Amino acid sequence: MRILHIESSKISGILYLLASRGISFLCRMKMDTPKLSSKIRVVSNPKKIEGCPEKRLGFYTGYAAVVSETLRKPLFQKFLDWIIKREKIEKRAVKDIQVRVFPFQKENGKSLAGRCNNEGVILIFPKRRSFLQKKMQDHKKERVRFYLKSRAMAALIHELLHLKYESNESKVRQLTKKYFSIFIRHQNMNTESVNSIQNMLFAV
Ligand SMILES: [Zn+2]
Repeated sequence: MRILHIESSKISGILYLLASRGISFLCRMKMDTPKLSSKIRVVSNPKKIEGCPEKRLGFYTGYAAVVSETLRKPLFQKFLDWIIKREKIEKRAVKDIQVRVFPFQKENGKSLAGRCNNEGVILIFPKRRSFLQKKMQDHKKERVRFYLKSRAMAALIHELLHLKYESNESKVRQLTKKYFSIFIRHQNMNTESVNSIQNMLFAV
């Protein structure tokens, strides 16, 4: 009886050790990998808000809300986690993901989709209102909405890849296209829509 007792206490000791290690391992995992979605926030330049006409401000605020919601979607977040693991991107390197309210215009007149710095701050910019209004004349509203959501998702994938591949723009572009295609093909869409959104996003 005594031997049995020792044995069982040994076993329960081992079980306890395993359980506590398991728990601490899980805690560590949780602490080490904070959700990317918790880092997404809408940011606007107060100076730009001041002089902005109400309609324009309403448009860009609504746009930013849609983008922020799209980027936080669990399915997209899961997909980003998969890319991060596959590409061995240091998740902790991502410090802040800012969905900017106002567009950023490059010197060549085109609007920038995203940008990141070496402190792990990622900025996602909207397309200009005038561009989308023009698109709205030839396409259905839903299609334009889908385009701007896709543009933001592709921009976040692109900037995450820059954290690893730094200034290797051609590699980042090639992988962005590859990963975005994988994601979009898993949505319930017909081939024509998939091709058309890809052409809109990645046409040179
Ligand atoms: Zn780039």
